Amino acid sequence: MVADKISSERKYECHRCWVEMEKKEIEIFGPNLIIDVCPKCKGIWLDEGELGKLLKDRKLTNYLTKHIGTKSRSPMICPRCGNTMDIEKADDVEVDVCLTCGGVWLDRGELEALKGKSEEGFEGDELAKEEELDEERRYKRRNSPLYRFLGKISK
Ligand SMILES: [Zn+2]
Ligand SMILES: [Zn+2]
Repeated sequence: MVADKISSERKYECHRCWVEMEKKEIEIFGPNLIIDVCPKCKGIWLDEGELGKLLKDRKLTNYLTKHIGTKSRSPMICPRCGNTMDIEKADDVEVDVCLTCGGVWLDRGELEALKGKSEEGFEGDELAKEEELDEERRYKRRNSPLYRFLGKISK
């Protein structure tokens, strides 16, 4: 029945090669994971939550996919939701993360590289994250009804 499950899931197109990505099943602890792999460039698309299941490293996953700011530094458009993406760095490994759906694009070799970072004990660079946290705070402030109200009455 696995085949049915795979074919019923939505297909993505590789943003580099414009070919349909293939569903690949990965055996992990718990239910198997089905991820999308480009048959040409071997890029990998991971929906939100899938990176954590593969890396089994919550800290590194959160670092890469949570609090990523609001600005897009990546030219890539999310294959899942069509929104802008941002580049997140784990040391020298750069991955693209969707600002809207939290999906992650990994070029060939980046999953191994991230796993390596995780095994080395890399937990994120808080200093590098500061700017994005700041962006997020400013964004939240701008969109908070209280701050909008305070802005109005102080004019
Ligand atoms: Zn490709
Ligand atoms: Zn997205």
